[in-house]
Amino acid sequence: MKNYYQKEIETAPREEILKIQNEKIVKQVKHVYDNVPYYRDLMDKKGVKPEDIKGVDDIKKLPFLTKDDLRECYPYGLLATDLKDCVRIQSTSGTTGKRVVAFYTQHDIDLWEDCCARAIVAAGGSNEDVVQVCYGYGLFTGGPGLNGGSHKVGSLTLPMSSGNTDRQIQFMMDLNATILCCTPSYAAYIGETLAEKGYKPEDNKLKAGIFGAEPWTEEMRRSIEKSLGIKAYDIYGLTEISGPGVSFECEEQTGMHINEDHFYAEIIDPETGEVLPDGEKGELVFTSLDKEAFPLLRYRTKDICILSRKKCSCGRTHVKMTKPLGRSDDMMIIRGVNVFPSQIEAVLLKEGYTPNYQIVVDRKNNTDTFDIYVELAPEQFSDKISDIQSREAALNGAMRSMLGIGPKIHLVAPKTITRSEGKAVRVIDKRKLHD
Ligand code: ADP
Ligand code: ZN
Repeated sequence: MKNYYQKEIETAPREEILKIQNEKIVKQVKHVYDNVPYYRDLMDKKGVKPEDIKGVDDIKKLPFLTKDDLRECYPYGLLATDLKDCVRIQSTSGTTGKRVVAFYTQHDIDLWEDCCARAIVAAGGSNEDVVQVCYGYGLFTGGPGLNGGSHKVGSLTLPMSSGNTDRQIQFMMDLNATILCCTPSYAAYIGETLAEKGYKPEDNKLKAGIFGAEPWTEEMRRSIEKSLGIKAYDIYGLTEISGPGVSFECEEQTGMHINEDHFYAEIIDPETGEVLPDGEKGELVFTSLDKEAFPLLRYRTKDICILSRKKCSCGRTHVKMTKPLGRSDDMMIIRGVNVFPSQIEAVLLKEGYTPNYQIVVDRKNNTDTFDIYVELAPEQFSDKISDIQSREAALNGAMRSMLGIGPKIHLVAPKTITRSEGKAVRVIDKRKLHD
């Protein structure tokens, strides 16, 4: 069974996609140049005129935008339409600093919701489904995006927002939810709570989950799929570009198709800004091809990933991106070694631990300290100190061989690490406080 929400464009031949992109970018650059003085200045400084952009191949001539530009322009500096034409404001989660705001016209909302609808249909959704949305509603784009997408598909939408896990479970069971949308860390928590309440994975009617907004590993995917008895799909997005649904996974589960008729993707070398060929790892950069109110050109996401144009068995022709392999600013440098939280999560789950962990980095006597608190599952818990110590030593060894550096492992009692209902905070880097 192959299902698409907008089959014609999702499976369009490459030449056609390119033609659409070329037409859109010419108009978009002119729109931005005429209406956003801040970006016009950047283009003037680089000596690029709208006439120089004849198609997507010329995008590389344009200047980059970064989150710092967005903060500098806060709140209205990058708005490209009259405020009276806008119908919505959303905001980033502020994971890496001050929040930024984005504006939407009705046209922008529609194209964003269409992207989310494509993701829901790719996960098997239709008007026969009950879609439980437990991403946060409000300024965060997760709830509103999936809610709008679910309406477009015609699914029965349960606008739960995040939190109140008992109520989530009650509604999931009573109203026969079939598709669950939330962060992967919250999905893991819901799975854990279901088991505690005595439910088996087959007791719920869920068939799929659409999980994103934070990094998660393949190991985490398998663990969630097992605990909820579903197929778990990844979804990616960022407020600056629209929200969730910039890209989404199909049944192949080997990367996320970028909605290329709306968002043009490049991979650049984060040091030099040079565009890298498909297949190489680098920083993802997006150009919004047809948004009206907040049309960012060459926005540097800081997400590190790889693009692939290998033919996909689902029939979609849009380019695929790997899961972000961490944000460039997620990477910790501990005693000179580069460490990504996702590597730690992969080791923990492989070694049979729960996805409930916290990483604490600090600096004492000019040396970095590196501690990982890992919660034991009830059946792993032991009050024999020697048992715990030998487990800690084994886990330290597994971490050391993955990371090249040994953390201090603290195995802690079940239920002692705070559960996340939205984006999980995995790392506490206290060194930043001393700087
Ligand atoms: P903030 O940047 O403050 O977290 P957003 O809520 O807009 O604001 O989140 C966007 C970011 O979330 C992305 O740039 C990316 O780092 C992360 N993200 C979104 N979806 C995924 C995903 N599926 N996998 C990994 N990271 C993701
Ligand atoms: Zn596919």
